[in-house]
Amino acid sequence: MKLHSFAAAVALGLIALGGVANAADKATIGIAMPTKSSARWIADGDNMVKVLQSKGYNTDLQYADNDIPNQLAQVENMITKKEKVLVIAAIDGTTLSDALQKAHDAGIKVISYDRLIRGSANVDYYATFDNFKVGVLQATSILHGLGVDAGKAGPFNIELFGGSADDNNAFFFYNGAMSVLQPQIDKGVLVVQSKQMGMDKVATLRWDAATAQARMDNILSAYYTNKHVDAVLSPYDGLSIGIISSLKGVGYGSKDQPMPVISGQDAELPSVKSILAHEQYSTVFKDTRELAKVAANMVDAVLSGKEPEINDTKTYNNGVKVVPSYLLVPVAVDASNVQSALIDTGYYKADQLK
Ligand code: BGC
Repeated sequence: MKLHSFAAAVALGLIALGGVANAADKATIGIAMPTKSSARWIADGDNMVKVLQSKGYNTDLQYADNDIPNQLAQVENMITKKEKVLVIAAIDGTTLSDALQKAHDAGIKVISYDRLIRGSANVDYYATFDNFKVGVLQATSILHGLGVDAGKAGPFNIELFGGSADDNNAFFFYNGAMSVLQPQIDKGVLVVQSKQMGMDKVATLRWDAATAQARMDNILSAYYTNKHVDAVLSPYDGLSIGIISSLKGVGYGSKDQPMPVISGQDAELPSVKSILAHEQYSTVFKDTRELAKVAANMVDAVLSGKEPEINDTKTYNNGVKVVPSYLLVPVAVDASNVQSALIDTGYYKADQLK
């Protein structure tokens, strides 16, 4: 080799070596989120990008508009691009099995984010909240709002709403809530006038507010023409807004016809404002900043060949295996602790709630 070509080769080698530490060669993490129609998922995506970038990763954040084929295509694309780890909040927890097999074959690790991916052995870890506890908190706050915990015997009329039946979480929320409500139903303290109970009757496909609103309209006209609904179990703030619109449509929210005690989840801004205005009664705050940290630590660990920190190895059987999980703690919020739970923690600024 002539001297100048040797020098050129060395230079090229140096460039290549230098490149290892450069941005272009950083591992890319694929983040598949379900929808931008709910603020929580926007916050989840933003927080994931922030935390992963601060750890030196590139990120590929995709939203699927709540469309299953769209999310599948996004995940397949991430696999084709050989992204190192996929962090997925699935729309339908059962539709990704073939893609995840391809990911596994390509040595790509998969972290289920917030929602459990079902029916696949190729889900390595699960980062979420204690979803059963979310339901327990929703129901407990309803009993508190009604005064049942203070000894009121009712009977109170309650109607029940569930989340999307293709989301594993929806069953945990419902079962958690019913673990608290069923004993009161059995005692006659709570009465479900519509008799619509069980996820097969109360689920709300794709967590869609208009679907919940239409179901509430039907329930009100069929069972409540001369009765008052005192409480509504709603699993998610977006649904609570639809349910409240329906109730307002027939005159609820006045002195003679007070709003029922209505639960929620996610502490989304419109609902926190509604709580302060004494329309929605409560929500459940799940700090997406913490969830992003947990998921990013899992990414870091799997890429460095370490065991991620997990705190649950029993609860989340996805039909094929029990997925090792890290469960964060959800927090019940009503008008009495908006300040301490949401503002003092820096999740919202006080003027966002005006
Ligand atoms: C999440 C909830 C959310 C719901 C609707 C669930 O999987 O855990 O936080 O309210 O989806 O987006």
